[in-house]
Amino acid sequence: MKAAVFHKPGDIRYDTVEDPRLEQDNDVILKVTSTAICGSDLHILSGGVPQTKPMIMGHEFMGIVEEVGKGVTKLKKGDRVVVPFPISCGHCFFCQHDASPACENSNYKHYGPDGDMADQKGAALFGYTDLYGGYSGGQAEYVRVPYADISPRVVPDDMTDEQVLFLTDIFPTGWSAIDWAQLKGGEVVAIFGSGPVGLMAQKAAWINGASRVIAIDPLNYRLEKAKAVNKADTLNPHEVDVVEAIREMTGGRGADVCVDAVGFEPERDLLDKAKALFNFEVGSMKVLDMAFKAVRRMGTVSIMGVYGSTYDNFPLHRLFDKGITLKMGQAPVLNYIDHLIDLVKEEKVVLDDIITHTLPLSEVTHGYEIFDKKEEDCVKVVLKPWEQQKPTDNTEPVKIEDAASR
Ligand code: NAD
Ligand code: ZN
Ligand code: ZN
Repeated sequence: MKAAVFHKPGDIRYDTVEDPRLEQDNDVILKVTSTAICGSDLHILSGGVPQTKPMIMGHEFMGIVEEVGKGVTKLKKGDRVVVPFPISCGHCFFCQHDASPACENSNYKHYGPDGDMADQKGAALFGYTDLYGGYSGGQAEYVRVPYADISPRVVPDDMTDEQVLFLTDIFPTGWSAIDWAQLKGGEVVAIFGSGPVGLMAQKAAWINGASRVIAIDPLNYRLEKAKAVNKADTLNPHEVDVVEAIREMTGGRGADVCVDAVGFEPERDLLDKAKALFNFEVGSMKVLDMAFKAVRRMGTVSIMGVYGSTYDNFPLHRLFDKGITLKMGQAPVLNYIDHLIDLVKEEKVVLDDIITHTLPLSEVTHGYEIFDKKEEDCVKVVLKPWEQQKPTDNTEPVKIEDAASR
């Protein structure tokens, strides 16, 4: 089959690989109809989240069940499903306690209670490096989905792929950020980063009762998107002092809730880069710093952007003095997905209005390029594996080691 294969940082290609097979009784093989590129994939592309062996990318995908393992009871051939990005066994302690991103079984080789930088992670994630389980991802014609009775959700036939695809990751992720802050109604929510995750958090903030939603991003075209699809107020850090502006909008107090939808690879100048080198840090926590300043006393900061290393001078004093609540981590998609499917069905939210590019999978390299470099006003790329398939350069299939689960 054809798939988007990561070879080394900066090198993701449309390759021929071997077809996936059923490995366990509770697997299904999905024929992928749509898949998307996530900001998290950009951390692999940059090398910030390391991977050494060739790997099929992609954790936002949906499709039609093609083959069913003999232990699967809830899905049958022909079902059309969306698949949440964390891989959960459904029966371990964490899966039983609404904590599926901490599943003890899906990533057993690198699982552990410590959460170290180079080991002891939580649940496996599709197409997200050996450290996170080494499973092949869904930017491909077919993908193997383990524990198939647990996470995949059947979606209505009368809805397009685009309407439901983002239930796999970015809508539940944006939703988590807001749910963790437990809005009572009337809150001011400031969302740093107006990429796909930020835009979804903006939608979730309104639905949960925010009175004002502020989008912050250095890219004006992304702020325009936030205005157009989510009626957000906007702030560009190149144009205003964001912290001061948020305080002015909130009687000097600061936002009730701040969301970091940027992560460890924000836009950085030379000084930021020099500081990181000097401190042995990967990337920067400058956006988080800003969020801690911009949130009001006793407010909540939700961190959805990824952070993978230590940071010196972490402003613990500010968190303590202001009494800030911090929540973060991989989104517990399973806790929300059924409710969120209903919101989409009832037309209480529209998710596909952030898509700017729909490309055949054969143009995946270009898709990564424009999403990474923020070219062509790119906000979200959807890839179609079965449109305009092209021959690949490799004659022998690239060898991929798809992980086994326990
Ligand atoms: P993205 O790269 O498209 O969005 C990041 C946005 O942040 C961009 O629009 C960029 O211009 C903006 N930005 C850069 N510097 C900034 C600054 N100083 N201040 C404000 N904004 C700034 O990616 P995305 O798909 O929206 O993902 C965002 C983050 O969320 C990534 O780190 C991704 O890995 C993470 N993520 C986490 C989860 C989870 O479960 N926690 C799920 C999905 C994505
Ligand atoms: Zn993602
Ligand atoms: Zn589990």
